[in-house]
Amino acid sequence: MLATVSSATLVGVDGHPVVVEVHVSNGLPGFRVVGLPDASCRESRDRARAAIISSGFSWPQKRVTVNLAPTGLRKAGPGLDLAIAVGLLAADEQFPARSLQGLAFIGELGLDGSLRRVPGVLPLVAAVCEPTVVVAPACAQEARFVEGAVVRAVSSLKALVGVLKMGSGWPELPPAGCNQDDPPAPDLAEVRGQPFGRQALEVAKIHSAAGLELAAIGLSLRPPFRSPHHSSSAVSLIGGGGARLRPGEISCAHCGVLFLDELAEFPGSVLDNLRQPLEEGRVVVCRASAAVAFPARFMLVAAMNACRCGADGSPGSCQCTEAARARYANRISGPLLDRFDLRVRVRRPEVEDLLGTGEVTSAPTAATRETTSVVAARVGIARRRASERGVRANAELPAWRLEEVAPLSGGARRLLEQRLRDGRLSARGLDRVRRVALTVADLAGQEGALSEEHVLFALALRAPEVLGAVAKGPFLERRQSHRATDTRAIGAGDDR
Ligand SMILES: [Zn+2]
Repeated sequence: MLATVSSATLVGVDGHPVVVEVHVSNGLPGFRVVGLPDASCRESRDRARAAIISSGFSWPQKRVTVNLAPTGLRKAGPGLDLAIAVGLLAADEQFPARSLQGLAFIGELGLDGSLRRVPGVLPLVAAVCEPTVVVAPACAQEARFVEGAVVRAVSSLKALVGVLKMGSGWPELPPAGCNQDDPPAPDLAEVRGQPFGRQALEVAKIHSAAGLELAAIGLSLRPPFRSPHHSSSAVSLIGGGGARLRPGEISCAHCGVLFLDELAEFPGSVLDNLRQPLEEGRVVVCRASAAVAFPARFMLVAAMNACRCGADGSPGSCQCTEAARARYANRISGPLLDRFDLRVRVRRPEVEDLLGTGEVTSAPTAATRETTSVVAARVGIARRRASERGVRANAELPAWRLEEVAPLSGGARRLLEQRLRDGRLSARGLDRVRRVALTVADLAGQEGALSEEHVLFALALRAPEVLGAVAKGPFLERRQSHRATDTRAIGAGDDR
């Protein structure tokens, strides 16, 4: 007897429909899965067997062949467990196979027959060809984000077969809603004694996109924030892996923020992998089994000390030699550094700032204790102006539109020309400075041509000497030979 069951498998971040064909015939008892299953998919056999027996059904003492179609597509992970077990019971005539019509099944089975969540439910449910999808209760909320899908959730194989035999009586779905478990977000008012750093953060926030990649980061309504450790491998950061190509941290940060703390501690070869995704907003990972494109449009924020000891060159406490500090700063390649829109030196906060005993020491403006909501309101206005230009943030403006939307005043043009001529600004940097200057003008609520002040402010926010004193020579060469400074440095940039 033959039964066919609909399901789906994940390739990269995309779901692909899979038809599970189960054939049960007389002959020497055995169980084979064919159709390019990976190791965890082949193990379905053992999980399905234990789950079927634990649920009180009988394991057929017959010859069982499971074919996963299309056979040219590699099937990865345990998400086909449920479809295989259901197909097996139907093919063994333990319940009528016609009750499977119009249904698709996605889920991993526990040995006790319980249903578990699988990664990527959103693209999987979107990929199936049937109108109704059965998933584990833990996945139901995510599955319902797929428009038009009828979602059913059951907690176990036994409960599912009970419903299939009856033909009705699906259990109630867990209540819908957003993720209530998010911890409260930190407030900008908590940043003390760093007025300039906060200005940079503010401009960086404008460049960020507020979308959400549900499949990669779950159901939180907050944009993703990923902060991988500096020991992360290139594969974990960029994506890839074995048979099942997984998205890396940069894709998990899609439409959000990727924060690299202790930037100089990341291996240079790992960091340089970021250059292409920063330009294209996606990364293509090629392996012998497949080539997969992952979305990776994220805001990159990074922080590092000026030297390894962390004393930031303070006289008396920093033990680093000049050469050691230069080596430390040189760990960041010039081309990567050039892709940061904003590069800011953050001075050490004064004691009075930290203890909250005085306002006089640091604040150049009265804005030192602004809360996130106050800043967010300003950012919202600047965002709206960007959307009037047809982009989410000014960082997305193509170079050919800059002359139209960000015209330069005479003074601003002379200033940039001088920086280009004496090599203090690169060609790529020029466009980035204009976009940041436009954002500065937006934040100040000013229209018309960009003034010298706007451009000066943008230039100050991408100080080339952030990682070292500047010697003579062309822009990039200078950066690669820079000497370390005695201040803590933070770089922040939005590359889209
Ligand atoms: Zn030091």
